[in-house]
Amino acid sequence: MSFDSLDLCDELLKAISDKGYTSPTPIQTQAIPVIFEGCDLLAGAQTGTGKTAAFALPIVQKLGEKVPTEKRRRPRALVLVPTRELAAQVSDQMQYYGRRLSLRSTKIYGGVNIRAQMERLHRGIDIVVATPGRLLDHMEKGTINLSRIEFLVLDEADRMLDLGFIDDILQVAEYLPVERQTLLFSATYSQSIKQLADELLDQPRRIEVARKNIAADAVTQVLYAVQRKNKRNMLSDLIRTEKWTQVLVFARTRYGADKLTEEFLSDGIKAAAIHSNKSQSIRTRTLAEFKQGELRVLVATDVAARGLDIQGLPRVVNYDLPQVAEDYVHRIGRTGRAGEKGEAISLVCPEEQPMLKAIEALLKQVIPQKSLSGFPKVELKGGGRAKVAQMTNKPASSRTAPGKAKKATARPAKAKLTKARVTKKTAPTQRKKTETDRFGPKNGRRGNRS
Ligand code: AMP
Repeated sequence: MSFDSLDLCDELLKAISDKGYTSPTPIQTQAIPVIFEGCDLLAGAQTGTGKTAAFALPIVQKLGEKVPTEKRRRPRALVLVPTRELAAQVSDQMQYYGRRLSLRSTKIYGGVNIRAQMERLHRGIDIVVATPGRLLDHMEKGTINLSRIEFLVLDEADRMLDLGFIDDILQVAEYLPVERQTLLFSATYSQSIKQLADELLDQPRRIEVARKNIAADAVTQVLYAVQRKNKRNMLSDLIRTEKWTQVLVFARTRYGADKLTEEFLSDGIKAAAIHSNKSQSIRTRTLAEFKQGELRVLVATDVAARGLDIQGLPRVVNYDLPQVAEDYVHRIGRTGRAGEKGEAISLVCPEEQPMLKAIEALLKQVIPQKSLSGFPKVELKGGGRAKVAQMTNKPASSRTAPGKAKKATARPAKAKLTKARVTKKTAPTQRKKTETDRFGPKNGRRGNRS
C-alpha cells in the first residue's frame, strides 16, 4: 500500500515524502481511514510502530480543512501524553505536518517555566500536546480554554495509567465538548484501559497491530548472567570490545543512573544521565547530544526514557531489570523502531531471577543467554539457563506451571479508576461553562507531577 491511497492531501503527501517515508506502517494503514471516517478509535500499537503519524496526519488534515481566521484561536486538538520527552516528540511531528496547513501547535509540560507556555496559548493555537499535570495547571489558571476541542488523543494511555494520571485525565475530560472524536493508543490492554475506554470513547473502532504485550519483533534479545558487583565492568568491557557507539542504558533508580554515569566517565566512556531530578533543559540538551553521537552512553530511568524516539538507535541495555515486566517491553521498544533492527542486552544477577521469570512469562519467550570471557560463570536457577540458551523461542509456559505465569505478570493497578463526573455519554450541558467558572485556582488538587 502507498500513502496515495489514504486520501491525504498533497501538502501532507509532500511532507511525508520529505521525511523519507515510502509506505505507511500497519498502524497508519488501519488508523488513518478510521479517523477520517470520524469514529472513535481504540488502538493497540506497540512503541515504534509509527503511531504518532497515524493520528497526527488525519487530525492535521481535518483541522486544516477549516482554519479559523481569528488570530487568537482556541485549541481544537488535544493530545495527552505521559512524559515531557514524548510531548516534545509528538509536538515536533504535529508542528512539522501542521505548518504545511497553516496550523499552530504547541507543547505544554511541567519542569519548565509556565509563562512562555501561557504566552503561546494566549497568542492562539490549534493543537496542544500536553502532560496531564501541567495541563491542569493551565486549566486552573484559566490560561487554556478547551471548549473547542474536536479531537482528544490519549497517547501511550497504559503508561499514563501506570504513572497515576487516571484522575487527571478524567478531570480534563470533564471540560471537553461531548461532540468530539477520541482516539486512545495503548501498547497493552489492561482492565483499567478497558474501563478508561468505556468512560471516554463512544462506540470505538478497535484495531491492533501487534499481539498483546509482545516485544518489538525487530529486536534481538540476549542476556548475560553476572554477579551484581561485576555488572559495571562487564558493561564497560562490552562497550569497548564490541565497539558500541550509541547505547541507551536503563538503571532502576536516579541515584543508580548518576553513579553509573560517573563510573563510565572515570573509565573514559562519554556518558550522561537523564532522570526526573534533572531539569528539563538539561534533559533536552543531553538527549540532543546523544542523538547527535556526541555521547556514547545515555543512562536513563524508566520514566525519563519512556517515549524517547532516537532514530536508528542500535541497542539498549538493561543494567537493572525493571521491577514491572511490562516496562521491559517499553524499554526494548526504544530500539528496532519502524522496521529497523535493534538489540536488547540484559545484565541479570541472581537476585533478579524473579523479575526475569516475570518478563519471560509476559513475552512467552525465553531470552537466550550469552557469556563473556573474563567474568566468573554465574548460574541462574530455575530450569537451567544453560539449556535455555539453546531454546531461544521456546515458550516460557513450558517451564512454568499453569497459572504461574499469569501470577508473575499480574500487576496491581496503581490507580483506581474512579468514575468520571462528566463523561462523553452523560453530561452534555456542562461544557457551556468556562474553565475559570468551574476550575478556579482554589480547587485543591494534587501536586505537580509532570
Ligand atoms: P512512533 O511509533 O510514532 O514513535 O514512530 C517511530 C519511528 O518511526 C519514528 O522515528 C518515525 O519517524 C518513524 N516512522 C513513522 N512512520 C513511518 C513510515 N511510514 N515509514 C518509515 N518510518 C516511519
